[in-house]
Amino acid sequence: MKFVRYNGGQIGVLRNGLVHDVTRAAGSHAASWPPVDMVQLIKNFDALLPQIKTALVGAGVPLAEVHLEAPILWPNKLIAYPVNFVAHGEERSVTLRADTNGFFLKASSSLSGPVDPIILPDLPNREFHHECELAIIIGKTGRQIEASEALDYVFGYSCLIDVTLRGKEDRVMRKSYDTFTPMGPAIVTSDEVGDPSALDLKLWVNSELRQHANTRDLILDIPGMVSMASSVATLYPGDVIASGTPAGVGPIKSGDQVTIEIERVGRMCVPVELGHGGGNLAVRNG
Ligand code: MN
Repeated sequence: MKFVRYNGGQIGVLRNGLVHDVTRAAGSHAASWPPVDMVQLIKNFDALLPQIKTALVGAGVPLAEVHLEAPILWPNKLIAYPVNFVAHGEERSVTLRADTNGFFLKASSSLSGPVDPIILPDLPNREFHHECELAIIIGKTGRQIEASEALDYVFGYSCLIDVTLRGKEDRVMRKSYDTFTPMGPAIVTSDEVGDPSALDLKLWVNSELRQHANTRDLILDIPGMVSMASSVATLYPGDVIASGTPAGVGPIKSGDQVTIEIERVGRMCVPVELGHGGGNLAVRNG
């Protein structure tokens, strides 16, 4: 199944180009706050599945007629791995690697939707980079998960862009601006994706293909990422793990269109805009 959020927090299933409203079947309502509706759906998925399937019988709305939003807004954790493809480590001239340096966190509030713009802070002379990544969405609570069991803990996958301000400030701050983690268009359940160990990932800026890689070349593979994260912190349903980016990262600027596509997971295209203000520290260090 492909789960989306749309039109102010409704939950839908995307099927054959149509969005079926399953908000009520999922036991949520669009106005609830905090916005943890998708987290609850994932937690209770097995119990909710019969009701969700029943809701699919009704007429759907064409995808083009809805406004898609970030499929998850408030995960308990937004975990991200650094350099996870050898070629990207070489292009950045860093020895940092996902398997030896482990993960970091981004602010969950940096998540934005598949048609929302990336809004760059107004920091002249600073570079902002796109990073093409696979989002792994956790399906059940776990700690000290063995790599051999890890895929049982994965609910699904989505496309994710890890937008990054380059510079010497702390990484968490540089990556946590609002809209710096576009995600979507849907969460595709793991049964529909199948084997995640050979998925093609691509990212374009405007019409230029900047990144093209395959999950078979990950340094720390998907089970390894889940296992390492869970060796430190309990993973909860809805937690998001960003895979780390392949080679080809590069600058984005206002007016650009960034398109990400992952095999069997989806495709989204987001515009880049210039915002206001955005960090006195960053200005000083520029
Ligand atoms: Mn990254």
